Amino acid sequence: MNVIIIGGGASGLTAAIACAKHHHVKIIERNPKCGKKLLLTGNGHCNFWNEDQTIEHYHSQNKTNLQTILNQATNFVLPFFESLGIIAKKKNGYYYPMSNQAISILNALTKTAERMDVEFLTDTYVKEIQKEEKFTIITSKKTYIADAIILATGSKACSKTGSDGNGYELAKKLGHHIIDVLPSLVQIKGTRTDYKDWEGVRTDVTLTLMEKNTIRKVETGELQCTNYGISGICVYNLSGLVAQGLHQGTEEKILINFAPWFQNDKKSFAKWLQEQSLEKPISDVLDGFLNYKLGNYLQKIANIKKDTKKEQINFYDLASLILEFPFEVKETNGFENAQVCSGGIPLDEINPETMESKIVKNLYLVGELLDVNGDCGGYNLGFAWMSGLIAGSKVGHDSN
Ligand SMILES: Cc1cc2nc3c(=O)[nH]c(=O)nc-3n(C[C@H](O)[C@H](O)[C@H](O)COP(=O)(O)OP(=O)(O)OC[C@H]3O[C@@H](n4cnc5c(N)ncnc54)[C@H](O)[C@@H]3O)c2cc1C
Repeated sequence: MNVIIIGGGASGLTAAIACAKHHHVKIIERNPKCGKKLLLTGNGHCNFWNEDQTIEHYHSQNKTNLQTILNQATNFVLPFFESLGIIAKKKNGYYYPMSNQAISILNALTKTAERMDVEFLTDTYVKEIQKEEKFTIITSKKTYIADAIILATGSKACSKTGSDGNGYELAKKLGHHIIDVLPSLVQIKGTRTDYKDWEGVRTDVTLTLMEKNTIRKVETGELQCTNYGISGICVYNLSGLVAQGLHQGTEEKILINFAPWFQNDKKSFAKWLQEQSLEKPISDVLDGFLNYKLGNYLQKIANIKKDTKKEQINFYDLASLILEFPFEVKETNGFENAQVCSGGIPLDEINPETMESKIVKNLYLVGELLDVNGDCGGYNLGFAWMSGLIAGSKVGHDSN
């Protein structure tokens, strides 16, 4: 078959290699080179996989189909990269190439595809896809005909890399639906106006996302305080739920525990703070366990000044501020800053055994274009590889 893959990112390149064993494959990529986003991953180090492949780390409205995809493909990803010559190293369950460079992964993919005679049509933008018996692909340069298409155009996160959401429009015109697309793995802005006072602080915390007094999710890790709010992996992992909640008009609040090492409740913490401050000023007590800038910031909010007497301090309020700092969410940062998007083409509209569209025969859908997103830690590339491997190897099998 003549197969055209639209999008030369993580999922498209993987699909090309899997598909080129049996078919003539062309990749159409709008950028001068493939894999622009891939080069940015993991700060250029490319965290390409995670050893914990339980479904809790992946998010989709159709977890049944998602599980079918994971069941089929999780065992094939590491052997696939080994077969490309990638030696991997593992750090706390996170996989990186031994070289520590994303370009090793990109080169391995593109060079293998080249050796398999995959044709690269770069600097070429797909404007429209028409389907009669075959597919007609109208691009910025030429019109191509294909027996099958793998649509791998990504989401609309970080559009400077080429994925600007146009793939959703291509899919919609072919009859697919789109679940609302929202930024995920992104920084969160708060409602206060004084965040410049904690800007630059990095500290280990526990975050509890609250919606209408109900706990939605708890994350631990290093918090990065910014002049607009909060960032860091633990924040990213809450951001998808936050964006969805805000989209539905729900008020979002994150309780920040700045002393996660203290195992007891606020009352005991207040008592402990009070005892500690019997022989020294409260600022010295806070300096003993909090980042200095953060300690000053919290004292300012608690209205504790240099000349405030101990009897004037409400230790319970101070303990609450430290253990449950109420971070009221204003909004998340936008698509440009997001690593991925939630939403996309529903998994109900594909056959999860093959990634083939249930709406258009011989159309395959892969990667972030679909309604799947993962936590930080290699899960998003993980889904790109898995869906690409399945689609590439199943093209031409009669599945629906
Ligand atoms: C800064 C950053 C860091 C990240 N770090 C990690 C990480 O360490 N680990 C991890 O697992 N995930 C990470 N991710 C997420 C991961 O990169 C994506 O989930 C993954 O790249 C998605 O792959 P994809 O193939 O679906 O889409 P993409 O990689 O976005 O590829 C889509 C391709 O399609 C092309 N295209 C789009 N429309 C057209 C068109 N009409 N015609 C022709 N070409 C088109 C685009 O130019 C692009 O090259 C990170 C993301 C960002 C932004």
